[in-house]
Amino acid sequence: MTEQEAPIRLLPLCAKEAERLDIILACDGAASVGQVGHQVAVELTNANEAARMCCITAVAAESKAHVDIARRARKLIVINGCANRCASKVLERLGIPYAYEVVISKEGVEKLPTLDYDPADVKRIAEKIAKEALG
Ligand code: SF4
Repeated sequence: MTEQEAPIRLLPLCAKEAERLDIILACDGAASVGQVGHQVAVELTNANEAARMCCITAVAAESKAHVDIARRARKLIVINGCANRCASKVLERLGIPYAYEVVISKEGVEKLPTLDYDPADVKRIAEKIAKEALG
């Protein structure tokens, strides 16, 4: 590591600490709204010691360890890009309840075929979720 590089911040291990964590599951869709949702999940993870993104794709693939994490989490916060609500449907199919759901396209962000996004949207929506769902 050179002097200029910041040290990496290791996150709590989901499998070991699920019971004390607010687990954030974002669809990470390949569109503007999915990318806003992904970045919101990153911001919330970085700003809260007891909140953390986990792998929704692994839950969808029914990885036993990841389904177990979702079932044991202190709270599940689900971030969907659009009204398809793919991340929420993964949990609903498995019968796993979640505490909070957001749909980015209903939060003033247009779904466009781009990976670009406005950081102001990320900040605004992350603040809303932090206020309404975390802690
Ligand atoms: S919820 Fe919408 S943006 Fe997210 S993965 Fe599904 S279709 Fe894509």
